[in-house]
Amino acid sequence: MDNLRDLYQSVILDHNKSPRNFGNLEDANRSAEGYNPLCGDKLSLQLILDDDECVVDIRFTGMGCAISTASASLMTEYARGKTLSEILETMNRFHELLTGNPNEQGEAEDLGKLAVFSGVREFPARVKCATLSWHTLQAALDDGDKVATTE
Ligand code: ZN
Repeated sequence: MDNLRDLYQSVILDHNKSPRNFGNLEDANRSAEGYNPLCGDKLSLQLILDDDECVVDIRFTGMGCAISTASASLMTEYARGKTLSEILETMNRFHELLTGNPNEQGEAEDLGKLAVFSGVREFPARVKCATLSWHTLQAALDDGDKVATTE
């Protein structure tokens, strides 16, 4: 278990240090801003949703703590190429992973790399850092010009 923990930690640190999909997206047709007042994390998300409700490209910018940055990096990596319904399902699972019953083992495996945030549930104050990018993604997919907040 300690090894797994170390692995999770190193993935989060790596994505914080070298965030994937960081920057602006020229042809974005959806966007949203996210803010987590508890920690001060700010996120701006831009994506392209095609006619088949598939996210063909996605980028983010912003400033936040290591967990929020790594979460946005891993979330964008996950979301690219996924359909709206796949994303909504994973979003629910991810939320359950962070807030639900810690004994439900199967969920973390299904989530692949996103499971690195499973340790965050031991730190309730940081759960919102990890879910901010997903709240923002939901706002962008829902309609567009909204500010998502974790409150
Ligand atoms: Zn944070």
